[in-house]
Amino acid sequence: MSNFNELIKNIRSLLIGPAVSRFAPSPTGYLHAGHVVSCLYVFGITRAVGGQVLVRIEDHDQSRSRDAFDDAIRDDLIWLGLIPDRSPWPGHELGQFEPQLRQSLRAGIHAQRLQDLTAQGLTYRCDCSRKGLSHNPDGELFHDGACKNRHVPQDAPHGIRVLMPDRDFVFDDLALGTQHQNPQRQTGDLLARDRTGSWTYQFSCTVDDLDQGVNLIIRGEDLLPSTARQLALREVITGSDLAPTPLFFHHPLVKDESGKKLGKRFLSTSIRQMRLDGQTPEKVLGFAAFLAGKLDRQVPLDLPTALDLFAR
Ligand SMILES: [Zn+2]
Repeated sequence: MSNFNELIKNIRSLLIGPAVSRFAPSPTGYLHAGHVVSCLYVFGITRAVGGQVLVRIEDHDQSRSRDAFDDAIRDDLIWLGLIPDRSPWPGHELGQFEPQLRQSLRAGIHAQRLQDLTAQGLTYRCDCSRKGLSHNPDGELFHDGACKNRHVPQDAPHGIRVLMPDRDFVFDDLALGTQHQNPQRQTGDLLARDRTGSWTYQFSCTVDDLDQGVNLIIRGEDLLPSTARQLALREVITGSDLAPTPLFFHHPLVKDESGKKLGKRFLSTSIRQMRLDGQTPEKVLGFAAFLAGKLDRQVPLDLPTALDLFAR
């Protein structure tokens, strides 16, 4: 990974205007140490380039989202001192209040965007179930486009797919270097709304990043394969391959002892549990830095020191 000066200089030279990045959790569980690691990358790098951080609540899947988790995310961020410039929560201590940073309030906007694409002939109805789809070599669901010419009836349960170009998208990841991805070969045409009427992560995230002026996307490596899909969708939505694309920094995922991705089932490491156990914010920040390999042992860290470590 680039050293502090190179990374920060690089971002400054590549961006037109101030950096805007986001931390975008789903309220489907408590924040855990992996989220804190991600937050420290987002806040650390963005603050170092003099940019703005917004928090967006990705509650596009209403069947899995819970208000209690939404509240807990807010409380845990305040407790850690990770205060965004713009947030979906009212209150002076959380930056500028923007209700639109909560995806469930944007369903009408997402619907309008999809309708615009449909009017241009860029979508089609799909009634495939997850079970009926094949998988790509990475284990992701793959749609072969068969529904494009099937004319699935309007009144049957169906999702909507957006046509994806069949070509390589090339981008320079700030952490991982040059990447080549072909969204059509990865997963086929992109599901924007599923059969239950829920907006998909890919569609809602891309529309929101565009509308909210996000130009620096810092997130875990598990989302690396999504990047070309989101770049392709930006092109389709803006009708141009000349629109500025965001910069990407995909950071390594935190692993547990067995080498697996740290998941929500590691309840012992939820920030909520750590607080109940009497931990301090400094200890949690030190634990996150240790998990991310930024420290070789666990020591308490104050927030400025932690942010500085993650910006190099
Ligand atoms: Zn289909």
